[in-house]
Amino acid sequence: MRNPVTLEDYSKEAFIERWPEWFTDVPCGFYLPPGWGPIMWRACLALEKVIPAEGTNKIRVDQVKSKFGGLRFYVTPLFSNDDNDVYDKIHHIISRVEDLSWAVCMRCGTTVGKNDTEGMCPPCREKGWG
Ligand SMILES: [Zn+2]
Repeated sequence: MRNPVTLEDYSKEAFIERWPEWFTDVPCGFYLPPGWGPIMWRACLALEKVIPAEGTNKIRVDQVKSKFGGLRFYVTPLFSNDDNDVYDKIHHIISRVEDLSWAVCMRCGTTVGKNDTEGMCPPCREKGWG
C-alpha cells in the first residue's frame, strides 16, 4: 500500500483507505490538521505493528482532533487487557502523538518552538486559517 507524499495526501480518505476498520466510522469525529498528517500516519504504522495480528479491528478509534495546540488521538482497545505489554505499547504510541505535535506546525508541518502554544509557526499564525 502506498504511503502519502505531500501533506495534502494525508487526507481522511487516505487513512480510511489504508486502515478502513479504524477510520471509516470514527464516533467522535476525525479532524486532522494537514501539518500533523505525517505524525498521525507514522503512529498508525506503529500501532498496526503492536496490535495482535490475528483478526482485525482490535482497537476502536474514538476521536482525532486538535486541542490546545496539540494533536489528540483517542482509541479504545477491544481485546482483553491480559496482555499488558500490548496495552502499554498502544498507550506509548498514542501519547507520543501529542508530544510530537507540539513541535510541528499544524498547518504547514514545519518545526516550531516550544513556546508556540497555538500549534502553528509564526507565519501561519499570522495568516490565520482564512
Ligand atoms: Zn506553519
